[in-house]
Amino acid sequence: MSFKGSNSKIDTQLTCPRKALYKYHLYREPVKGGYALRYGSIWHIIQNIYYKSIVEGLDKSDAIEKAISSGNEAWKEYNKSYQIDEDDYRSFTECTSSFLSYLDFYENDEESLEIIASEENLEYGMELSVEESLKFPYLTEVVILEGVIDLVVKMNESVWIIDHKTTGSYMGLIIKSLGRSMQLMTYHYLYQKVKKTEIQGCMLNLHQLSSKRKKDGDWGKVTVDFQRSPQLYTEDDLKNWREHFLYTLNDFYMCEDKKCFPQRLSSCFNFNKPCDYIDLCMMNQSNEEILVNPNFQKTVPRENRKF
Ligand code: SF4
Repeated sequence: MSFKGSNSKIDTQLTCPRKALYKYHLYREPVKGGYALRYGSIWHIIQNIYYKSIVEGLDKSDAIEKAISSGNEAWKEYNKSYQIDEDDYRSFTECTSSFLSYLDFYENDEESLEIIASEENLEYGMELSVEESLKFPYLTEVVILEGVIDLVVKMNESVWIIDHKTTGSYMGLIIKSLGRSMQLMTYHYLYQKVKKTEIQGCMLNLHQLSSKRKKDGDWGKVTVDFQRSPQLYTEDDLKNWREHFLYTLNDFYMCEDKKCFPQRLSSCFNFNKPCDYIDLCMMNQSNEEILVNPNFQKTVPRENRKF
C-alpha cells in the first residue's frame, strides 16, 4: 500500500475526518454544483489551456481561441455532470469577457514573463527520518506527495509558481488569509524537491468577480478586478509545513486503520455556508446507503477527466 498525500486530502482531513471518509474512501461528491465552483473551475481551465498553448508555441490569438473553446466545452460538460438550476451573473459570457480583460490588464506579461510550464502534475517521494517515523507511526518510510501546479514562470531571472484563484470577496482579505496558505507552501516544497531548483516564491493570481442582489431580486452591477500577490517562504516555514503535512496525513491513515471518522461539528458551517455533505450527516446514513444516495455521485478521478 502506498501512502499518498496532497493539499486537498490534508485540507479535507483537517476540516473534518467524516468528510474525508465521503471524499477519499467512498469517493462521493454532491450531484448539485455551485455557481462559484463552476466559474472557478472554468476560469482555471481557460487559464491553463491558454498558457499551455503558449508553451506549445501557438501565437497569442490562437491560444486565446483554443482556451475559450475548451472552456466552452468544459462549461457544457460541467452543466451535464452537476445539476445547476439556473444561470446567474457568474456566466460563461462573463468568464470569457473577464479573461480578455485579464489579458489586457497584464499586457506587459509578454515582455516580462517567460512561461515555463502550465498545469504541471508532480509527485515526490518524501523519505521520513527516524524521528518522524516514531512521531507518525501510521505512515511508512516513504510518503508520496502529489500536486498539480497551475503555472511556473521566470521573472527577472527568478522562478515563480503562480496559482490562479477566483473570489467574490474583497481581494485584500483573500490575500491576507492565503499568505499562510498550506496549498502554496505545498507547491513551493514540491516544485523545489522535484525540479531540484530554488524558486523565488509563489504568486497568487487573483480574479475577483462579484455582484450583489438588488431589492427586486436581480443582480446588480458586476465588479471585475485582478491582482497578483507574491508570497515568500523561509526554510523554517517549509519545515513547519512538513510537520503539519505529516501530522495530518498520519491522522488520515489512523482514521482509516481504526475505521473511525468522527464528525467535526465545528466545520459544518464555514462563513455561513453549509458543508457540501451536510445532508449525508443529517440523515446519519450508513456507508451502504450513502453509496446509493441519488444526491451523491461517484467522483471521477482527475486522470480520467477530460479537463
Ligand atoms: S456536515 Fe459537518 S460533520 Fe458532516 S462532513 Fe461536513 S463538516 Fe463534517
